[in-house]
Amino acid sequence: MKQLLKKYFGYDEFRPLQEEVIEHVLLGKDCFVLMPTGGGKSLCYQLPALKFDGLTLVVSPLIALMKDQVDALKTNGISAEYINSSLLPAEIQQIQEKVIAGKVKILYIAPERLASLDFKNFLKKVNVKLIAIDEAHCISQWGHDFRPEYRNLKFFKSEFPKIPIIALTATATAKVREDIVRQLLLDNSRSFISSFNRENLEMIVTRKRKAFDKLLGLLQKHKNESAIIYCFSRKDTEKIAMYLQLEGFKALPYHAGLNSETRKKNQELFIKDEALIIVATIAFGMGIDKPNVRLVVHYTFPKTIEGYYQEIGRAGRDGLPSECVLFYSYGDIRKHEFFIDQMKDAVEQEKSREKLNQIIKYCETIICRRKYVLGYFGEEYSFPSSDGKELDKKSCEACDICLNPNLLFDAAEISQKIISCVIRTGNRFGRNYIADVLLGKSSQQIIDNQHNNLSVFGIVSDFNKDEINHITKSLIAYEFLQVSSGKYPIVSVTEKGILFLKQKEALKLPKMHEDLEGQEKSVSRRKIQYDFDLFEKLREFRKQIANKNNVPPFMIFSDVSLQEMARYFPADKNSFAKIEGVGIRKLENFSEVFLAVINNYIKENNIQSVEILNRVQNRNVKKNNSFAVPDRYIRTKKMISQKLSISEIADKQGFKYGTIVAHIKKLISNGEDIDIDYLKPPQERLEKIKTAFEKCGDEKLKPVFEYLKGEYSYDEIRLGKLFYK
Ligand code: ADP
Ligand code: ZN
Repeated sequence: MKQLLKKYFGYDEFRPLQEEVIEHVLLGKDCFVLMPTGGGKSLCYQLPALKFDGLTLVVSPLIALMKDQVDALKTNGISAEYINSSLLPAEIQQIQEKVIAGKVKILYIAPERLASLDFKNFLKKVNVKLIAIDEAHCISQWGHDFRPEYRNLKFFKSEFPKIPIIALTATATAKVREDIVRQLLLDNSRSFISSFNRENLEMIVTRKRKAFDKLLGLLQKHKNESAIIYCFSRKDTEKIAMYLQLEGFKALPYHAGLNSETRKKNQELFIKDEALIIVATIAFGMGIDKPNVRLVVHYTFPKTIEGYYQEIGRAGRDGLPSECVLFYSYGDIRKHEFFIDQMKDAVEQEKSREKLNQIIKYCETIICRRKYVLGYFGEEYSFPSSDGKELDKKSCEACDICLNPNLLFDAAEISQKIISCVIRTGNRFGRNYIADVLLGKSSQQIIDNQHNNLSVFGIVSDFNKDEINHITKSLIAYEFLQVSSGKYPIVSVTEKGILFLKQKEALKLPKMHEDLEGQEKSVSRRKIQYDFDLFEKLREFRKQIANKNNVPPFMIFSDVSLQEMARYFPADKNSFAKIEGVGIRKLENFSEVFLAVINNYIKENNIQSVEILNRVQNRNVKKNNSFAVPDRYIRTKKMISQKLSISEIADKQGFKYGTIVAHIKKLISNGEDIDIDYLKPPQERLEKIKTAFEKCGDEKLKPVFEYLKGEYSYDEIRLGKLFYK
């Protein structure tokens, strides 16, 4: 499978869970796959499709995406087609014939096809080996995107009970998950649920002050990269797009009020890297699959955490570091509240209010944003160790809270004052009132309540009202205080708050961030190092090639591939083949022209050939040094320091034995300081394995296994190889 992965897709490694899912699918069993956007779901059925001697049928509701997916497969040399309402009957006929003749490996269809008797009859003439249901949540009424056409899919199990089904989605609660499995009549299916953490996304919340200047700063930082800016209203998108154009940025608006032609055109310009910035309402994003969006800005914060996570999910699908910045202001809370107040349905209104409170809490939180969001979705997030030295570092290294620990201040005293004031005034007032009492404001209401006689009246002089409000919100996030929902939220103390008062604990809270300073370094630190000028040249060149081939640039090569080219300077076809994303078809079609650009650059800049050689040879080593080390390696490293056995480590991470051995190999070649002596097999066995490898060569394990007459397991052989090498 690894060979197929490199051959057709150009990748060396599977992403988490991909390998497990694929193995399961190849056994001919049903399964359900839940992975975040960008997790790499498509590969879970595209790779098995290459192994099966028949057709893989893919159902997808997104007609606009089908062509892209099929084009992408074709550029990788995989024969794929699609059938949907955008095609003429004659074209459909042609494709069907091609499929019946066995000339197509993967066929994408829209769900409504299955309503047609003709189509069903066609299917019966085809040797279907696997059915993949993309966006599987669409089948459930409990989901957020129910599509009645998806109900047609029941037909599969009733008509083709023997054909395995793989259902995939990025959004499903437990309830929807069960519903999908039930509705599709999946048989003894297994669920694969991956973490929703997107480690390459930096999550930042900042105060919305001098917002447009901040935005310009961000776009400057991401110059030449794709960005999406989400706004509150259609008018805002047009206004901001125009202002950005005046500043010299190629920015286009996108919202549901534009006519479909303009929408289509703007989207296409964005996908083709002709316009790098889209200023959109939430309507933008569903139909696009651009992997190299590097910046997502919420100019107005979104209405729900679900929406927020989906929108930032559109950044960095290719796994490269990308930045997500949310502008937060009290003014925008009121904008949202205003709309909620207009809602007619009381139940819906209450729900929306609750959702809004949750995103406000997220903005106000003082714990790691990542931990908070994942916790919201029911996932426990544990911090990675970054350098292997401080194993239990309490930082995700990619959110504003974790990146700015020194933005905290000693808040014990002011917090005690606020909490006391809430208690003294009887747990019956809102934030503003509490602040007014603390500041000693003699408003009519305060005098009527005789709160000007309390000991807390006017007790605060070193904070202003905004600041007190901010701290109060932090105390709510910390659950020392709680707030009721509704139009006039009332703040009251919690048990935790009372305990805090009694015990006089220390407490640090974040200052209000005013700007994004200090966050600049983080993103660039995590990027791989490459020759920036060459990258630019390659990117320009990619655009030309893409236009010639009439596909989006990312389909020719991803940014990851170009960055690797600009790092390792492959000088010939052999080294070019090692670049990530270069499979056989792309090697054939594009290596020559890209190599010409690279070699030209090498000549122009007098880069020494020795250096190039080293770079290519050291690719794997360097890659690990420079890429952000994936979580899984760090977890393996940590467990090795705890002296766990390889099987235990494998079990804990849900990987295979061999994968863990591969991790260890990488960690060692990466120069990581790990002690694996305790894993060493007994000396005489090690000698036997070594002899076997010397006799049989170390390319393949099977001859070695056979040479040893089955007395040594594959796992032991793998491990032995690691040691004698
Ligand atoms: P999803 O459907 O889960 O949102 P995709 O299948 O579109 O994700 O994959 C997202 C991106 O990741 C694509 O650009 C894809 O080519 C890339 N990708 C998938 N699997 C791998 C892998 N094993 N190694 C490197 N890149 C991968
Ligand atoms: Zn964090």
